[in-house]
Amino acid sequence: MINLTLKNSFWGYFNFYYRITGNSLLLYLGLSILVSLMDGLGLAMFIPLLQFVGNPDKTVNSEESLGQLHYIVDFVRSLGFELTLTTILGMLVFMFTCKGLLRFIQLSFYARMRHLFILKVRKELLHRLEGLSYSGFLELDAGKIQNTFTSEVNRLFVSMTAYFTAAQNFFMLSTYICLAFLANYQFALMVLVGSLLSNFIYRKIYKRTKKASIELTKRASSANNFIIQAIHNFKYLKSTNTFTRYAEMLQNVVRKYERLNRSMGKIKAVSLSIKEPIIITIVCAVILLQTNLMGTSLNTILLSLFLFYRALNFLVQVQNDWQTFIENIGGMYAISASAHQMTESRELMGTAEFAGVKKQIHLRNVDLYYDRVKALDKINIKIPAKKTIALIGESGSGKTTAANILAGLFTPKSGEILIDDTPLINYNLNSYRDKIGYISQESVVFNDTIFNNITFWADPTPENKERFDEVLEMASLKDFIKSLPDKEFTNLGDNGLLISGGQKQRISIARELFKKCEILILDEATSALDSETERVIQENIEKLHGRYTMIVIAHRLSTIKQADIIYLLENGRVSASGTFDEMINTSVRFKKMVSFQSV
Ligand code: ADP
Ligand code: MG
Repeated sequence: MINLTLKNSFWGYFNFYYRITGNSLLLYLGLSILVSLMDGLGLAMFIPLLQFVGNPDKTVNSEESLGQLHYIVDFVRSLGFELTLTTILGMLVFMFTCKGLLRFIQLSFYARMRHLFILKVRKELLHRLEGLSYSGFLELDAGKIQNTFTSEVNRLFVSMTAYFTAAQNFFMLSTYICLAFLANYQFALMVLVGSLLSNFIYRKIYKRTKKASIELTKRASSANNFIIQAIHNFKYLKSTNTFTRYAEMLQNVVRKYERLNRSMGKIKAVSLSIKEPIIITIVCAVILLQTNLMGTSLNTILLSLFLFYRALNFLVQVQNDWQTFIENIGGMYAISASAHQMTESRELMGTAEFAGVKKQIHLRNVDLYYDRVKALDKINIKIPAKKTIALIGESGSGKTTAANILAGLFTPKSGEILIDDTPLINYNLNSYRDKIGYISQESVVFNDTIFNNITFWADPTPENKERFDEVLEMASLKDFIKSLPDKEFTNLGDNGLLISGGQKQRISIARELFKKCEILILDEATSALDSETERVIQENIEKLHGRYTMIVIAHRLSTIKQADIIYLLENGRVSASGTFDEMINTSVRFKKMVSFQSV
């Protein structure tokens, strides 16, 4: 796992990118420096050209008009080149061709690096999401997660591009500043000091932009959250005409978000438009100072200015890149924070491979709190291997919570889950869950074909197809699928929007039956079915008695008549347990429930 912590500094950002890209980053920066050098050397070829045009007889003292750069002219001459217009132009073309080639290599390399970068970040986030504990997941909100995975990754990407374009332009800037210094160091020094002073203004702008950028991330996730919920609950909002009211709230969130975007645009407009006037004013002031007060020759000033002009171009670009970087820095912070949060709330587990239940699963004195609300109070539940137990009780009594604990989704505050005397936490929970089939209260349907939904994207081998047919029978899905034009290749739509609640439930059941598991948890698995279909599935599930270790949660007591042990939950406590017949005799409450439902 890559460390995604972020230190709030120039090197902190560098370090963040470096940890993701590795040495490619250094190679890229090396290439950037080479490109800048080629560019600088290429343009330095203009110098002999200038001199040649100025003094075709070459007798004038070159130091006068070139400053320290006369060495370049001397160097060209020492190579044995006659300083003619043709040689100079030839060399100019040569240098820039080399630069073009290097630039090509650099940019292709960057494209590759970007590609790997985004893959790595996505993979890292996904990896953390996968390792996130269920209770940690409940603390994060869906909008935030989604926003992190989509727009914040993109913003991170933009920020990286801006950061490295800024680096490239910075190297260019440095090269030309060096050249300008060589031409006339006094002029260069003064302009440089002036530009640095102007940077104080930019600091302020950057600071404001950065604040806005981080705020923008927050607003984006809350807008996202609203939209997700609107989509999720579309049917309800539509049918009760509450969409308008909901949309108003969404509009408010979006409006705030866009206002922030607008003010960021305003800051950008200011920073972009004041750059040139400031720089030109500084340059003019320095020229005036040098020619009038210091009596410097205009020739070297002009040469230095020429080099500086190019340097200033890059300065403006560095500033623009940096502005873009800062504008998108929120993405970096969001990703780092999400990664941190997901790592903090990761699931802790042992290493032992789970090999199945031999004797029993035992919830011993288990307490569970949601925040500060106690959901389970010292419950004791024994589930003998290959037997069926039932959890009953009114809604809110803690049945689903107990099932979640059995699936290892929550760690009890006190008490333990023992599997044949070994605490569950000693096991690698994923190897344990490989053996679990969980038909949860909310049906789980993916936007894909029925076949993929049930087989969980298994290959359509003859063996799998046969198993698929078997479970269709057991989940009473045969007739339904036969009636569809596309049969098992029918797409179920987003969240199973295209089928009924009962059909969704049957598909969820079929999926768990298809999976080769040993422990089957059914949380009101047949609650959405009509009584006829329920009866058929019930019979099929009863046929599984003895083959699975089963935990059945049911409202209708008729469905749990055959259970080996029934546990009655009341307010998070087990108030009675035993077989159906025992319970009738020992528990007044159970007896009442039975007579009420006239089983
Ligand atoms: P049952 O399945 O028996 O209807 P649950 O196990 O779902 O009941 O809930 C037991 C209690 O825990 C209820 O009081 C419920 O409000 C509370 N509860 C369930 N899930 C959460 C949660 N994610 N956060 C806070 N409280 C919860
Ligand atoms: Mg429940």
